Amino acid sequence: MTRRRLLALILAVAMTPARAAGIARAVGLDPPTPPDWIRAGLERDDAGTVVRVFELDPDLAREVLLPATKADALPDGYAPGDLVSAAARGIPSSGAQRLRAVVVDDTRALIQDAAAAGHELHVGSGFRSQAYQVEVFAAQVARWGDEEMANRYSARPGHSQHQLGTTIDFTDAFRGFRGSSAADWLRDNAHRFGFVLPYTVAATARTGYVDEPWHGRWVGQALAGRLQAVGYQDRGDLDADDVLDWVRDAAGAPASGSAGSGSRSRLSGGSTA
Ligand SMILES: [Zn+2]
Repeated sequence: MTRRRLLALILAVAMTPARAAGIARAVGLDPPTPPDWIRAGLERDDAGTVVRVFELDPDLAREVLLPATKADALPDGYAPGDLVSAAARGIPSSGAQRLRAVVVDDTRALIQDAAAAGHELHVGSGFRSQAYQVEVFAAQVARWGDEEMANRYSARPGHSQHQLGTTIDFTDAFRGFRGSSAADWLRDNAHRFGFVLPYTVAATARTGYVDEPWHGRWVGQALAGRLQAVGYQDRGDLDADDVLDWVRDAAGAPASGSAGSGSRSRLSGGSTA
């Protein structure tokens, strides 16, 4: 074993997600207390049962808001039940891309609106199964030579937001996209179609991933709009995944009482290209 490989192995063992989270805490990266608008985004019936989560059906919200970050894996082997072909639904895409049916209309509208503004976007990467992410991650490990480095660019299997079927890379020209006018457009408009862009430059220390301005995660227009309003893309003290944690915690908490201390289990969000 070479020194480099040995070092990589030691790092891989030492930097378990919990350790990484502890380090993030230690350097003061905890997000602020959940603001009032989180709980205000939940609609309850007279019995206190949550009936809407930022205008989404609670069952849909439970799936759409599942944590998929560097620290938190999806349920093992998770795959959504309503995957459809993007091309068959009239959505420009790179090869045979699949998406959840629930995001088809917003995705198509986003791409059409971008085109009207002179920007070419398409589905460069949509749903990726856990098995496929094994290949994606292995290719990045081969490229970078060690897993920790690869994990800055690519999610480990089970941790990719692409496994949700609601996450889209809106290009496959990654390097050319950064800093482009199309990236600016997406940054300013993705929320109107229910997408957030979790991997910002500002949040790199929190998410553990390099910035990916092409990577959109669908959370519905109501929540994406609120996130845009609080300027999440410029903030280093919280990222989109932190807000999703708050929403999940609030939705799972009773209507009154001391809810809200939350069970935040993650400190760093995200996945990759
Ligand atoms: Zn991506």
